[in-house]
Amino acid sequence: MTARRLRIGVMGGTFDPIHHGHLVAASEAAVALELDEVVFVPTGNPGNKKVISSSEHRYLMTVIATAANPRFTVSRVDIDRPGVTYTIDTLTELSKLRPDSDLFFISGADAIAQILAWKEVDRIWPLAHFVAVTRPGHQLQLPQVKEARISQLEVPALAISSTDVRNRAAVGKPIWYLVPDGVVQYIAKHKLYRGHGDSVHN
Ligand code: NAP
Repeated sequence: MTARRLRIGVMGGTFDPIHHGHLVAASEAAVALELDEVVFVPTGNPGNKKVISSSEHRYLMTVIATAANPRFTVSRVDIDRPGVTYTIDTLTELSKLRPDSDLFFISGADAIAQILAWKEVDRIWPLAHFVAVTRPGHQLQLPQVKEARISQLEVPALAISSTDVRNRAAVGKPIWYLVPDGVVQYIAKHKLYRGHGDSVHN
């Protein structure tokens, strides 16, 4: 008898910081897609995009936020790979590490909507299914490509955004209940997002 292939979610994101919207999205995707595990993969260097916190801070906040869930893990593949982070490299590396698995790349709908512009997109399709998470009512134009496996999942808690959390932290407004308690404490301890929070570290 052949063993069942594992179904692994790959939550790709900057996670600056991780918040309850991301965690609910991962949990909803795990139920809807019958996933055995969800691996959170904080982006290393996202290229031109401005990232406020260092990779290590974003990685550690992701570890703290996911620690209590036995099905959630965190991978360093993107933050340990030198150079700009491309999803083709993320998925190639994870497929080699987990050859017994089917991968489901989960990310924000706005990010997935741009996938046709991603590096080596034709090589990406066979590596994973793609799940674009949106808030309810959000109309999305998903790319129409024959070989692509792309689906959409509505997640009410995605009304929370990292930008809003950063803006609140920058002016000392509370961020309790938007992010896990341990992440609130980590942000306070390391004084993340204080002031204008413009500087870029990677
Ligand atoms: P982004 O453009 O910062 O995010 C777009 C939207 O999606 C934001 O509203 C964001 O909300 C949300 N979002 C991001 N990740 C999410 C997740 N895992 N679950 C739910 N919502 C999410 O996107 P990004 O974070 O830079 O990139 C997302 C993923 O796509 C990363 O894995 C990145 O490496 C990959 N990517 C690859 C390429 C490429 O290969 N060329 C190009 C771009 C992105 P929050 O701000 O609240 O998170």
